[in-house]
Amino acid sequence: MSTYVGRFAPSPTGPLHAGSLVAALASWLDARAHRGRWLIRIEDVDLPRCIQGADALILQQLAQVGLTSDGPVLYQSQRHTAYQAALDTLVDRAQAYPCGCTRADITQANAALGLNKERHGDLVYPGTCRPSQGGLKGKPARAWRLLVPESGVWSWQDRRLGPQTQCLAREVGDFVIRRADGLWAYQLAVVVDDATQGISDIVRGEDLTDNTPRQQWLQQCLGIQTPRYLHTPLVLGPNGEKLSKQNGATPLDLTDPLAALHTAGQALGLQIQARTVSEWLQAATQAWPWRN
Ligand code: GLU
Repeated sequence: MSTYVGRFAPSPTGPLHAGSLVAALASWLDARAHRGRWLIRIEDVDLPRCIQGADALILQQLAQVGLTSDGPVLYQSQRHTAYQAALDTLVDRAQAYPCGCTRADITQANAALGLNKERHGDLVYPGTCRPSQGGLKGKPARAWRLLVPESGVWSWQDRRLGPQTQCLAREVGDFVIRRADGLWAYQLAVVVDDATQGISDIVRGEDLTDNTPRQQWLQQCLGIQTPRYLHTPLVLGPNGEKLSKQNGATPLDLTDPLAALHTAGQALGLQIQARTVSEWLQAATQAWPWRN
């Protein structure tokens, strides 16, 4: 039996679009080509951003192209206890600390250091509430942050993109694992869930590449084995921007599921001729190791 376990982890913020099918298909094909299992996880940790019914719609869209979970579908909204246990572990090990900074505080502290910068979609945290800096200094606790190594470059290998590097201290800073609004941060939830589901291989869209060092650092802090990573090419919309539910990408057109698979396959370098969905998936699984 293969020890490969893959997953597709959509956020139910809307129906799947053409780009999400590419990621879903790539993770499914990679799992099948390795004779592994493939699991679906609904990432509804950021409940205010979720749309009611989008989870069922996504599962239905996936089923229309023949992609169904090999085990129970995990919902992040039901995982509070596991996330809390991970936070407790990190606090016990003095790797996580409470932070009282607002966004404005961070901007101001960065400006005072001449470093006002936003990298990887967020402000770099200057370490104001670090225990070694005196902690909260009377401010009420808002979020919880994870200490990152003070220096050094994080190096890792992506199966498609090759060697990657990121300096966590300079490019990210101590990052949030529990948000000021009480919600669990994506970084923590994804790492805890990948471990619970025994994921050996993460195959997901390239827009998530720069989260990987944070997730690998969290895995190290929690004593979790690091999976392999493969980030898939993004599908750009007519305006050259990446397709995303937030920028209003049109939902995947599944009037012809075979045509949808064909288009998604092309984005992955696969040219498959088939008459049915299951024939297409079978041929694509065989072609997957040789795609270009
Ligand atoms: N839920 C994330 C998304 O829909 C994917 C997370 C992941 O694959 O690690 O963008």
